[in-house]
Amino acid sequence: MNMNERIAVWNEEAQNCTCGHDHRLVQMQVYLEHGAIQRLPGHLSEQGYRHVTIVYDRYTGSAAGYEVVNKLRQTGVHVDEISMPENKAGHVVADEVGIVQVLLGVKLGSQAIIAVGSGTIHDLVRLVCSKMNKPFLSVPTAASVDGFTSAGAPLIVSGVKQTFQAVPPEAIFADIDILEQAPQEMNAAGFGDMLGKYTSLADWVVSRDLGGEPFCPVAYRMTEEALTTCVQHVQGIAEGRADGVTVLMDALIASGISMLIIDHSRPASGGEHHLSHRWEMDLMEAGHKPVLHGAKVGVACALLTVKYKDLAQKSNESVFRVYNNLPNASQLTDWLEQVGGPTTTEQLGVSMEMVEHALTTAHLLRDRYTGLKYINEILNAGSK
Ligand SMILES: [Zn+2]
Ligand SMILES: [Zn+2]
Repeated sequence: MNMNERIAVWNEEAQNCTCGHDHRLVQMQVYLEHGAIQRLPGHLSEQGYRHVTIVYDRYTGSAAGYEVVNKLRQTGVHVDEISMPENKAGHVVADEVGIVQVLLGVKLGSQAIIAVGSGTIHDLVRLVCSKMNKPFLSVPTAASVDGFTSAGAPLIVSGVKQTFQAVPPEAIFADIDILEQAPQEMNAAGFGDMLGKYTSLADWVVSRDLGGEPFCPVAYRMTEEALTTCVQHVQGIAEGRADGVTVLMDALIASGISMLIIDHSRPASGGEHHLSHRWEMDLMEAGHKPVLHGAKVGVACALLTVKYKDLAQKSNESVFRVYNNLPNASQLTDWLEQVGGPTTTEQLGVSMEMVEHALTTAHLLRDRYTGLKYINEILNAGSK
């Protein structure tokens, strides 16, 4: 089954799900194939879009942006381009400055905005599309993150990383010819973001049983299957082969859709993401260059796994036995190393103080009942 057929199956399962969650009907077109961007002109003409805006940066412009611009102009579409400027440190950041830069570049007559790039550009564009009520189209240039197909836009506003509800793409053109050209560190980051599902899924069980939070078995299974397939293909991903990158992108898209279906990041984001968000803010404050989201998540997952297995031993709460099923931390770091990603906080540039700061405060970033929250608020509080 191709992705669009699987979305139809997931939609049907979700509509019949009795978990109590609202389930969004996903109406996204997904093209994950060689030459996927060739479908863009047809999509625009079907939708009647004759004037669009394309957003890219210095790297993603040459990876795909310029080609998309030329292709669309040849078919008579009016195209405005926004080449995202970099900050003083040479980076495009998903913050209030970036939001304004996109906003200012979109003309009123533009009928849709096309994000060409990785997570950062997508998050800026999805927010602006949501505020300007314009359709959002996605051309990912790397299999680096699972946020492409979700509705949430993680943005740093006033120095605080927060996720804003925005809009999912109307269609995603994931062109394997483009994705397989991406640097291996981007694949490693996408793989790290997927590995993080081990702890996020376990944390979801804890959120349900200790926090009484909503739990959707359909979204849980979608994410679990995506994770399992990804790990089975670690070799192809490590070699950056087209088949490996395809499996990875497929998993990341599925993970994003699982969040979209229940309009919440629960399946794909637990304590490991909270640690990663804390590090991101601390690194930014320290003037450190940004580190890929998935690179931080992968390392955080391994670190948290040690804490969680320990918690499963120490606590009488039976729910924490779920952490016994996590792979060993050494297995997680072996996989990260195999795909060529960082395996230690040191390699991320995260200091021991930042590790400690995150372990003791990251649970305060989101209103979620995770093992990390329990460790801080019950276990450690009780031993003081
Ligand atoms: Zn993530
Ligand atoms: Zn459900």
